[in-house]
Amino acid sequence: GDIGDLVARSAIELAALPFTPFADSVIRLGVTGLSRAGKTVFITGLVANLLDRGRMPQLRAAAEGRIEAVWLQPQPDDTIPRFDIEGHLTQMTGDTPEWPESTRAISELRLSFRVRPTGLLSGMRGTQNVHLDIVDYPGEWLLDLGLLDKTYAQWAEDTLSRMARRPQGAEFLATARAEDGSLKHDEARAQALAAKFTAYLHAARTAGWSDCTPGRFLLPGELAGSPVLTFAPLPEPASAGRGSLWHEMARRYDAYRAKVVKPFFHDHFARIDRQVVLVDVLGAVHTGPQALEDLRRTMADILTAFRPGQNGLLSRLVLGRRVEKILFAATKADHLHHSQHPQLTAITEALVREARDRAAFSGAEVSAMSLAGFRATVEDRLERDGQILDVVRGRLMGSGKQAAMYPGELPTDPARLLSPARQGAERWLDADFALMSFAPARSSLKPGEGPPHIRLDRAAEFLIGDRL
Ligand code: GDP
Repeated sequence: GDIGDLVARSAIELAALPFTPFADSVIRLGVTGLSRAGKTVFITGLVANLLDRGRMPQLRAAAEGRIEAVWLQPQPDDTIPRFDIEGHLTQMTGDTPEWPESTRAISELRLSFRVRPTGLLSGMRGTQNVHLDIVDYPGEWLLDLGLLDKTYAQWAEDTLSRMARRPQGAEFLATARAEDGSLKHDEARAQALAAKFTAYLHAARTAGWSDCTPGRFLLPGELAGSPVLTFAPLPEPASAGRGSLWHEMARRYDAYRAKVVKPFFHDHFARIDRQVVLVDVLGAVHTGPQALEDLRRTMADILTAFRPGQNGLLSRLVLGRRVEKILFAATKADHLHHSQHPQLTAITEALVREARDRAAFSGAEVSAMSLAGFRATVEDRLERDGQILDVVRGRLMGSGKQAAMYPGELPTDPARLLSPARQGAERWLDADFALMSFAPARSSLKPGEGPPHIRLDRAAEFLIGDRL
């Protein structure tokens, strides 16, 4: 009868339960950082090690053997370039290993996991698919958020005064001051100003300054040569009518905000669940106190971008979505012997704490650590002048020679670097903190072995461990 049918059907349904696939879950992981921070190397190392799982003991799901398979899949967004994992990995692990080409624009990669759930449900539930969409984008684009609530006049004034504090700004500043914005717009002059301003941004970036916006001036992509990138900050004239240089510069600045910055936040940034911000802390320490001070401010600006509900423009753009976890990671930790990693982490933690205070940030879970996406050195001990030094050893970029490096001692107390008294100083500590650049090391990977790294597994556990 009917009831018998019903019972029979439920029995079938019950029997089918363990095989019922739960809805696939998707994590969108943003990877950002200023150019050369190590985004490309980080993603390549992370994906290679997740695919192999041989070197990920701190990733709980991997250690518990619950990850049954990991594979690459076509990404969900058809119009975003694919992150070239195969090309980058071949470059880094080939016979003559090289560093891959750095991030120039946004790219994406989907990595899928088949996992067995933990705990009570593990026997009843079947496996689950978790898709990790990794979205790589330049940190410079993130800093552009700050432009959304500044008018052209405010932005120009801020930018010119920042330039006055940086030696790289002298040339542009002289040109801009000699310019009269009330005169009629002339395209050749606008182009010359934009070119000089762009040259300044590149020089400032190379010198180690963090805040070098507008971000697309450094990484223009297909916008190169367009009017949205052909403006520059000018001193405000007493009056400037329609058709004046000032008026046209302001119009282009507004177009940059409306047609470049806002779409990026709306289309990409607003959809991120988890975020890693890579920071070249060692590089900033090496450059000196002012670069580190600049980095502190920049980190606060970055956190401001993730602050929910306070920036009026942003909350209108991102409609209720919220980033759940943010990891600030100091990269290139393989430049230091592990005995100094706690110091590097302590400096990064202090920077993050301070950035949280400055940005009055609350909401997401925030953490700091030091890591290396690809380990280019091995550790060693050397005796010098009767003293035992913990060094790292590797093949130098350029000459290709083997060298041992002892970069100097990072202070145990980060306040020694970060106290207000240091901020105006030109030099650090007792001696300079020296760094060398190493080429990626040749490694003979056995099957199922990811390339060597430092703490990528911990980073992965923090970022996605709870969802695996
Ligand atoms: P991106 O601009 O953020 O994509 O930066 P990249 O990932 O291209 O890294 C920039 C450069 O930093 C590389 O070419 C390497 O020289 C160096 N680098 C990045 N990650 C590491 C690392 O884990 N170890 C070492 N030794 N160098 C690294």
